[in-house]
Amino acid sequence: MAGIQYLGKRCPFSSNCPVFHGTLIVEKAPLMLIKNVFCNRGIKGWKNCVRFQLAETEDEVPSTATPYKKQ
Ligand code: SF4
Repeated sequence: MAGIQYLGKRCPFSSNCPVFHGTLIVEKAPLMLIKNVFCNRGIKGWKNCVRFQLAETEDEVPSTATPYKKQ
């Protein structure tokens, strides 16, 4: 099913991620590019995202963390 396939490729933290929702602006790249490179790319993309790495290993993710920096 297409829906399930899509969910499998989108980052599991996306629903609570301010980068994904565009409320935390990343100056380095446009949001569409970030989503293509990290958020919607499946595990290979997520693993390259610093914010994802923090979400997996830390109890709290700094509010300003992005795919490129810890805070
Ligand atoms: S890949 Fe990174 S930026 Fe994208 S939704 Fe997941 S934690 Fe947020």
